[in-house]
Amino acid sequence: MYRVIAFAFLLLIAAAAGGEARADARFCHAVTDLSAASPGAFDCSAEPADYRQRSLWLKIEAPADSRIVYVHQTRFERLTAVFLYADGRSASQTVRRGNYGTHWRIGGQIAFEPPMLAAPVKTVLLRFDGLASHELLRIRLPDPDEANAQAAVLPVIVGSAITLLALGALYTLSVGVALRRVYLLWHGLWAVTMVAWGLLWSQLALIVAPNLAGWSSQICTFLACLAVTLATVSGVMALGKDMGPRALRIGTLALGLFIMPFGILVSLETGPALGWQVVVLGALTLSVLALVTLSLVNACRAGNADAKALAWAWALPMATLALVQVINVDDWLYGGGSQVVMLVAAALQTVWLSIAVTLRIAHLREERDRARAAEARMSELASRDALTGLLNRRGFVDRAEFMIEGRAAPGEHFGLLLIDVDHFKRVNDSYGHEAGDAVLCRIARRLERWEGPLCVAGRIGGEEFVLGVTGLTPIGIRQFAESVRRGIADLQHPELRTGHAVTVSIGVASADHALSFQRLYGWADQELYKAKANGRNRVIFRGSDRNAQAVAG
Ligand code: GH3
Ligand code: MG
Ligand code: MG
Repeated sequence: MYRVIAFAFLLLIAAAAGGEARADARFCHAVTDLSAASPGAFDCSAEPADYRQRSLWLKIEAPADSRIVYVHQTRFERLTAVFLYADGRSASQTVRRGNYGTHWRIGGQIAFEPPMLAAPVKTVLLRFDGLASHELLRIRLPDPDEANAQAAVLPVIVGSAITLLALGALYTLSVGVALRRVYLLWHGLWAVTMVAWGLLWSQLALIVAPNLAGWSSQICTFLACLAVTLATVSGVMALGKDMGPRALRIGTLALGLFIMPFGILVSLETGPALGWQVVVLGALTLSVLALVTLSLVNACRAGNADAKALAWAWALPMATLALVQVINVDDWLYGGGSQVVMLVAAALQTVWLSIAVTLRIAHLREERDRARAAEARMSELASRDALTGLLNRRGFVDRAEFMIEGRAAPGEHFGLLLIDVDHFKRVNDSYGHEAGDAVLCRIARRLERWEGPLCVAGRIGGEEFVLGVTGLTPIGIRQFAESVRRGIADLQHPELRTGHAVTVSIGVASADHALSFQRLYGWADQELYKAKANGRNRVIFRGSDRNAQAVAG
């Protein structure tokens, strides 16, 4: 459910990307024909009007300590800055759509610097040809310290945010493809869109494509709308039925999708309609945001405790970004304001999602390992005898067949010892079933002491045990069986009356590794029968090596 919060958050971020720079200062202005050489008389009271097909001149009285004029990029055909020096000289610099020369700066700004650094500048005239909207204009004349700090800080913040965002996008997309998670792919596309937005808004893209100068404002509007749509669609997909009534789902989706064509309209607009279109776009974005927030609340109500915990964890950053929409932070960060906040927040959000996805993958892996371990335990339990903990028939046969199939040195045999407790019924009858169980367990513990890489023990019937041994010669196996018989007979059983010895009879079959387990078992069973018939408490051996055959008692 954490993705629920992620989507609401990225929607907020996309929302923050929607706005353009607003005019924050009023200057005296003049409007002339495009062919005019000078501005004529300036008007310092009314709002500029009717300048879209003409030239809008702005007169700025330069503060004594400021040297550079920054214009935040917006839509115009051509922009000329004229520096009027106190001594009457002047100098001018021009940029035009498609060519900002050396005047573009990282952080979405165009910089004009008076060429004669020593001479004091009295007035700066800015001439905009074919400006779309003066309301979206932002002009700054920082003092030299601020200008230096901006040149050092802004590229670092913007560059690192875009790098983080790009890495996040790459990671999210690859994880999305690897895990086949559609919502991660949507998120990755959103992050890619935001990377493109960041590259264009900050003008970093001009390093490789200088012709894009002046177009980025329009492309950015389109990309911001695309981001809102991607975020909305993916949010609706991720929330699914948890987001509430069908009408809310369809409404949110419809509004999110509608932003796309409207965004195309706004990005193509270069006329007076731009002013109200930007306002409507902001309102639309905030509406989608409100709907998604509502859906998020619903999903949290319908969802689990995890979703609620995460919603709380994200309440603060979400509130911060919502505030960025409502209060004006354009003057922050050297005029980068909401865009830089947006870029950094998008990067942090993507990094957060990457971490969340990584933790989720780690969690899934842990669960998988636990399931595998449980499965291994189950199969181990299924091959064990409940009373003694020795391998049961199935477990023993598996291990024995594995040992028989293994390599053996020349002369080495596999020996199968079938061990049956003598007169065990009497133990039960005389001392009770519990005492009988205790005796069986003690024999099992004794057998376990012989277990190792070359020897495996099991319980294959009520009071019937078995040992499989390899790496010995037939004579060695016979001797081993004898020591097993003695070892068991020597056990002390406190449950039984003193003097009541518990003995076993052992039928042994030995062969080189060519003989099957079934054949060996048949042989051993016959020899066990003989041992019982011959008086019990004895070993009878049968090997494929005839010389080694013997009867021990
Ligand atoms: P023999 O020397 O011929 O093997 O005689 P026996 O009494 O050992 O053989 P028999 O097959 O007549 O009896 C085996 C007894 O083992 C019968 C059964 O009650 C007992 N038994 C089987 N499984 C268990 C068990 O898990 N616990 C206990 N206490 N007794 C068991
Ligand atoms: Mg028996
Ligand atoms: Mg018996």
